[in-house]
Amino acid sequence: MTVLTHARITPPLAYYDGLYSFQQDVFDTCMEHADNAHDAHGYTRAMQLAALAIAIDLPASGTIVKCACSHCGDCDAIFDAASPGLRRVEPSGPYNLPRYQCTACTDGHPAPHED
Ligand SMILES: [Zn+2]
Ligand SMILES: [Zn+2]
Repeated sequence: MTVLTHARITPPLAYYDGLYSFQQDVFDTCMEHADNAHDAHGYTRAMQLAALAIAIDLPASGTIVKCACSHCGDCDAIFDAASPGLRRVEPSGPYNLPRYQCTACTDGHPAPHED
């Protein structure tokens, strides 16, 4: 692992590819539910279930997301949406869920819309 001197990278909470397939299924479903939730209660519940499914504690921010990096396409980092140093990705629709690049991608790539 390379040592980065400029930014402190917050490690992801989990890696999607490291999950069992049933965990991935539940996680995906929960993310969809959170995305389409009509109220805060439904959103929170979906997030709690997502965290439960991947065996982590839901961070204080109440939102975990999978990296939405468009450079890697399939970066599998799952992290706290309130981690420092994240870059927000343009949402592609009217969703609840924020889209972020993980800290490693934010650090490693240019912004998706700057090239
Ligand atoms: Zn990433
Ligand atoms: Zn990336």
